[in-house]
Amino acid sequence: MWEKKISASMDDSLLNADKMRMQIAKKKIYDVCVIGSGAAGGFMVKELTAAGADTILIEAGDKGRLEDLYIHDWPYDLPKRGFGLFKQASLYGDDIGNAIEYRGDRIGVDRIRTLGGRTFHWNAVCLRFSADDFRERSLHGVEEDWPLSYEEIAPFYSFAERQMHVFGTREGLSQLPDGDFVAESPRLRCSETIAQKRLAKIGIKLIPVRKAVLLKGQKGPISRGACHYCGHCMDVCDVRAVWSSDVTVIPEAMATGKLTLRLNSPARKILVDNDGLVSGVSVVDRATGREEEIYARIVVVCCAAIESPRLLLNSACEKYPNGLANSNDLVGRYLSGHITAGAIGYLKDLIGKDTFAGDGATDHAYIPRFNQARGQSHGKRDYVGGWGMQMNYVTWQWPHHAKSVEGFGSAYKKRVRELQPAMFQIGAWGKVEHRVENRVTVDPKKVDKFGIPIPIVQFNWGENDLKLFRDMRESVMEALDACGVETVINRDERPGGFASHEVGTCGMGKDPKTSVLNAYCQSHEIKNLFVVDGSCFTTFSEKNPTLTIAALAVRSARHIAELRRRGEL
Ligand SMILES: Cc1cc2nc3c(=O)[nH]c(=O)nc-3n(C[C@H](O)[C@H](O)[C@H](O)COP(=O)(O)OP(=O)(O)OC[C@H]3O[C@@H](n4cnc5c(N)ncnc54)[C@H](O)[C@@H]3O)c2cc1C
Ligand code: SF4
Repeated sequence: MWEKKISASMDDSLLNADKMRMQIAKKKIYDVCVIGSGAAGGFMVKELTAAGADTILIEAGDKGRLEDLYIHDWPYDLPKRGFGLFKQASLYGDDIGNAIEYRGDRIGVDRIRTLGGRTFHWNAVCLRFSADDFRERSLHGVEEDWPLSYEEIAPFYSFAERQMHVFGTREGLSQLPDGDFVAESPRLRCSETIAQKRLAKIGIKLIPVRKAVLLKGQKGPISRGACHYCGHCMDVCDVRAVWSSDVTVIPEAMATGKLTLRLNSPARKILVDNDGLVSGVSVVDRATGREEEIYARIVVVCCAAIESPRLLLNSACEKYPNGLANSNDLVGRYLSGHITAGAIGYLKDLIGKDTFAGDGATDHAYIPRFNQARGQSHGKRDYVGGWGMQMNYVTWQWPHHAKSVEGFGSAYKKRVRELQPAMFQIGAWGKVEHRVENRVTVDPKKVDKFGIPIPIVQFNWGENDLKLFRDMRESVMEALDACGVETVINRDERPGGFASHEVGTCGMGKDPKTSVLNAYCQSHEIKNLFVVDGSCFTTFSEKNPTLTIAALAVRSARHIAELRRRGEL
């Protein structure tokens, strides 16, 4: 179906005397151009090539090389004890960290540029949204309902979980639906077992974590090893047991012979033809600075919630002076992400016990949202939403308490050593309300090294966010107390954002006046333009976003193939 459609539109373009179409006719025209190679772009190209589409994948970064990283190096062997971006500096070229402007409250976004996007060094926790998470307006009178339901996305969650090898345990919780797990989670560690028992007494359930990590090695276009429990997932997994699109779905798409990979090519703007449809993308070669136009019948933007709206806004043209898909001025708006609060305590039961070498699969435990069930005992909640908690995902490579312990000499060293095996860290991630004033914009006068306008990120916490933060922070301290800790350090007094979980800037909705995309991530305004990543989220819950991004990408890719089959695209 893809080939038939191609020749039909080639005929069209040759008949048309328009200059641009003549130019296009001379050049190769791909069926689909996908921009961005993270979880979304990766699943997109896998599904599209499997459906027979001649696809090109454009990625701003290069292939990450393990030998350029410092995965297992000890901090004392590294400059500045490894602080800053030193360990992964090779993945952040072109002064990318500074090519962004933040206005408002303290937040930050990860701007890694590499094949695989942030999945190259993510922590792989995979959580389904619950049925209620898609219905905030109906249930709580805030924000909007998603234009799709849990039942509609559930089969795609299952597919993504199996593809990504998500392990987990079946718990039967309505606020955190069970997945189609391929294996049981690794056992809880000592501190987590103690915490599980103690937290149960105050009505908080601690369960094994759900992660997309291989527990058995696997052969494939790229062989991947089994987890060896080193605790370095976010430093990049040296055996590639952590699911990442660069070692899974992208090589699988390459193996079909239908994928062209174009690395080191930041997209400057999306091209538009005389009919107002998108016709390709203009990219910059990072090495030479030369610009080139790449043509395609369908463009799928998968650059994540900051860069996708940036690209749409930077693509303003005569036909769309406010940017693509943006006549309602909603592209870039409703920026959201997780609000965070955490602390580290030292479990009295484990102080002075033997230290251990096995850090584990980074984190082993998760506390699903519990505040929805505690309304009575904790008084009436005056905010909407909740939080989940992840534990022990910070490194054991150094004693986090060393600066907080008082004294000096041998007594000081003894105390630092005694506390180390007792470390118990909690990080809570809460829902942030989507608000129209939080947004990404561009300013033609502020550009990066390629002359492309940088993203300007305007964000302030809302009243609901701050009320939720106060309760969430209290509950972190309450949980640590219940576990029996002493010496609490690193407690967050102010909210942090977004734990690299930013979403919401090109929202999906049924009404083209109040949303950018339909339920398949297709632009209401330009039918052959799709935006498939966290930007499309209508609202956010406390759950990590990537499994939902992957499921939506598969759903959207299959819809594109179906529209082509029906001749509607
Ligand atoms: C340290 C860390 C830990 C995390 N842990 C978890 C976790 O445990 N669970 C979870 O659910 N999520 C986690 N995340 C978030 C997760 O990585 C992202 O949600 C996920 O990668 C999003 O996928 P994506 O495809 O939408 O975007 P990305 O992975 O960000 O990929 C976007 C890609 O687009 C490319 N790009 C951007 N602009 C352009 C352009 N103009 N032209 C060409 N290419 C462009 C980028 O280079 C990048 O490769 C974590 C993130 C980090 C950084
Ligand atoms: S803990 Fe396992 S999955 Fe994580 S980096 Fe180490 S080997 Fe890889």
